[in-house]
Amino acid sequence: MNSKKRQALKRLGYTDYRPLQEEAIDALSAGQDVVLAAPTGGGKSLIYQSAGLLRNGVAVIVSPLISLMTQQVDQLNAKGIHAKFLNSTLNPGEQDDLVWSIRHNRIEFLYLSPEKLIQPSIMGLLQSVDIALFAIDEAHCIAQWGGDFRPEYSQLGRVKQSFFNVPIIALTGSADNKTLKGIQSSLGISKADIFKGRIDRPNIQIQIAQKKQAKHQILHFLHHEVSGQSGIIYCRSRNKTEELCAWLRHLGFNSLTYHAAMKDEDKQQSHETFSRDNGAIMVATTAYGMGIDLPQIRFVIHMDIPNTPEAYYQEIGRAGRDGKAAKALLLYGLQDMLKAQQLVSNSPEQARLELTKLTSLFQILEDRQCRKVSVLAHFDETTEVCGICDRCTSKQSEHNATIACQKLLSLIYYTKGTQAFSTLIQVLLGKRTKTTSSIQAEKLSLFGKGKELTEAQWKTVIRHLLAFQYIQIVGNHHFLVQLNEKARQVLKGEIQVILVNDHYYPRLTEEELMA
Ligand code: ADP
Ligand code: ZN
Repeated sequence: MNSKKRQALKRLGYTDYRPLQEEAIDALSAGQDVVLAAPTGGGKSLIYQSAGLLRNGVAVIVSPLISLMTQQVDQLNAKGIHAKFLNSTLNPGEQDDLVWSIRHNRIEFLYLSPEKLIQPSIMGLLQSVDIALFAIDEAHCIAQWGGDFRPEYSQLGRVKQSFFNVPIIALTGSADNKTLKGIQSSLGISKADIFKGRIDRPNIQIQIAQKKQAKHQILHFLHHEVSGQSGIIYCRSRNKTEELCAWLRHLGFNSLTYHAAMKDEDKQQSHETFSRDNGAIMVATTAYGMGIDLPQIRFVIHMDIPNTPEAYYQEIGRAGRDGKAAKALLLYGLQDMLKAQQLVSNSPEQARLELTKLTSLFQILEDRQCRKVSVLAHFDETTEVCGICDRCTSKQSEHNATIACQKLLSLIYYTKGTQAFSTLIQVLLGKRTKTTSSIQAEKLSLFGKGKELTEAQWKTVIRHLLAFQYIQIVGNHHFLVQLNEKARQVLKGEIQVILVNDHYYPRLTEEELMA
């Protein structure tokens, strides 16, 4: 390491760089644009802080998180480094002072929000001084999917246009290559060097299983797998968090709730109790997340399907921050998949993006291989089989389901895709119900021709066909199933479909718990 780098490191209070950090700093300080994707705790801030000190001029840090900006500014100032936060809470006098300091090169780091940066007066000011670099934090907010999209971010392309000689570093948590490409093109930094930190968390054991009386499955998990330990249970709806929390309380668990509709002081209270008490269980919507970094969380349960693989991986990643063994359990079924699909946005463009993400997640859920391998493959990271997930540890059996698939696909074809999956299953099982008689199902040649499978097994077939896009739901206002090209290939016998036999997570009754 050269003396300048060592000096910068020392001013920032560290003795050594981590491997990825030094490479990224070298690229950035040489004027190269950089995209950096690394999980939380990966040490991203040291990169732009070091490079900022190594280059001439003020380093401009753009972030949507006010708390992060105040914190970093305080930390830098405590180390005798000149950092300032430009925000709307400054009074006119303070703002003038800050502008003066920037003009006279008295500032080494300037933190501001994206909406502030794109104001013409600020852009103009920055063009009149030397800029060391731009760091765009939480750069995934540029992507139009997931929950974090911010419109101001889509205007940050102007930075490169106005400051083409100044390097940009875009920082994000774990992201797939498509997201990274999106970030590059929005920011106009197509030639950027890409650095990716490894995201594998070997201490987290993943289990994904079919849902059946979920509350009692959770009891089994709490009782047999994580007894007395702290963890988070994620639910989709606010009502569900409250209901589950109350039920767990009634059974004697120290459970808490957290969701967006709660009063700020109640949320604060919940979070504090959870942080403090050993063995507390937080039942929450995804509102409980950003910025939570508690070392003692031992498990994360998903009662419902998350929206994206990114959200799933980030949420289970809240467990085991201390590096010790931790567990993640996700329970789902066909119903959950259908519900998740219904909840996508109304705007067609947005819906398309969200469905792509959701489908990637479905494929992870339905995949036959090691859970770690399939989740990490989504992030373009390869890994050895983990040896501890449900796929690795259970002796699962597989069967050729091609004939069953052909029956179901034919039935969809003959009913023109208009019938709900539950109706199709009733037809295949030869059940006479109001619905089946209303469509004169007895007259269909496939009526009662699917009795070799149970209702649950038929659901498995449908889940698989949906996840791997043999079929897709296309109706906006009415339910409508479309057969894709792959479905035709199955019908013609050109492809075989192999399914894993379903694995239900065990259940514990309340009585067993009390005994
Ligand atoms: P991120 O922004 O990627 O979530 P941070 O920049 O907040 O990560 O760093 C996470 C933690 O790692 C911080 O506590 C930081 O002090 C520490 N850290 C980062 N780089 C180093 C290093 N080279 N040596 C020692 N500690 C480091
Ligand atoms: Zn595995």
